[in-house]
Amino acid sequence: MSFKNYGLEKSLLKAATLLGFNKPTPVQERVIPEVLRKQDLIVQSQTGSGKTAAFAIPICQEVIWEENKPQALVLTPTRELAIQVKEDFFQIGRFKRIKAVGLYGKAPFEVQQKELSQKTHVVVGTPGRVLDHLERGTLEASHISYLVIDEADEMLRMGFIDQVESIIAALPLNRVTLLFSATMAPHIQQLCEKYLRTPKTIHI
Ligand code: AMP
Repeated sequence: MSFKNYGLEKSLLKAATLLGFNKPTPVQERVIPEVLRKQDLIVQSQTGSGKTAAFAIPICQEVIWEENKPQALVLTPTRELAIQVKEDFFQIGRFKRIKAVGLYGKAPFEVQQKELSQKTHVVVGTPGRVLDHLERGTLEASHISYLVIDEADEMLRMGFIDQVESIIAALPLNRVTLLFSATMAPHIQQLCEKYLRTPKTIHI
């Protein structure tokens, strides 16, 4: 299998090559084609499997560059992971000039607000700060067509369930939802049943 098989834009293939991604990892082989056909997914895979690129590559492909409002939202349990995922979007989307903004605590709200007021394709953040921006009207949710819940088990373990549900309530119903988790406890299944549309489960 090669990244060329997915019909990806040249800019993304160039970025993948530059990053040393010679061929898709197993999770990428399973996830990329499904996201490209707008299938909701529950993905059970570990960190280190290449899961970030598994969602970042197809999302970068689907982003419409000319649209100024955010088109994808990635929720992460920690600030560190948000920074890492944002950096991965930057690396993968650099030749398409994808603009990713990070929203997390312990960083000035106003700086994030200013970033959001400029062209933003992808938002990556932790639930508290993302909700804060939604409630204050500084994050526009009307064009978000991809939601990724990354490390869902950690997210729930850290007590973010209410915030995650409030965020989802603010998003358009017509969207693709991808949930990634290392483990599949019953409360994660419940979350999936509530918010994903006929999801497929991928277990790596
Ligand atoms: P992750 O599971 O998203 O934390 O990714 C783990 C590491 O694998 C990161 O350093 C990525 O840059 C790297 N990686 C992701 N996809 C590939 C690929 N197709 N080939 C080689 N390395 C990759």
